[in-house]
Amino acid sequence: MNAKLKVPREKIPWFPTINYDACIHDRECIEFCKNDVFDWDEALGVPIVARPNNCVVGCDACAKICPSEAISFPPLEEFKATLRKLIAEAQQQAQPSRSTETAPAGGH
Ligand code: SF4
Repeated sequence: MNAKLKVPREKIPWFPTINYDACIHDRECIEFCKNDVFDWDEALGVPIVARPNNCVVGCDACAKICPSEAISFPPLEEFKATLRKLIAEAQQQAQPSRSTETAPAGGH
């Protein structure tokens, strides 16, 4: 059987984190990200990670374009371990439950 494994995006902890001590408020990340992950907080004058689940899993391009290295992502090894765990859980959920299996019908 070729079960399709689905891990809901909201369970996958991959999105940018902004270090506001380092941010120089140049809006580069806002202009750069075509997936609309960031919004600009007009009141505070800072970028915010408004839609983290829009972030493409594995993409860290915004961290690379940030001139002050204010954007970070989870450490890769830690993230891979979390992803393996989520996939294993999805595999378990995809297995038919033994409690609902029925015994084959007997003869006469
Ligand atoms: S690109 Fe970096 S420095 Fe510029 S606004 Fe975004 S987080 Fe701040």
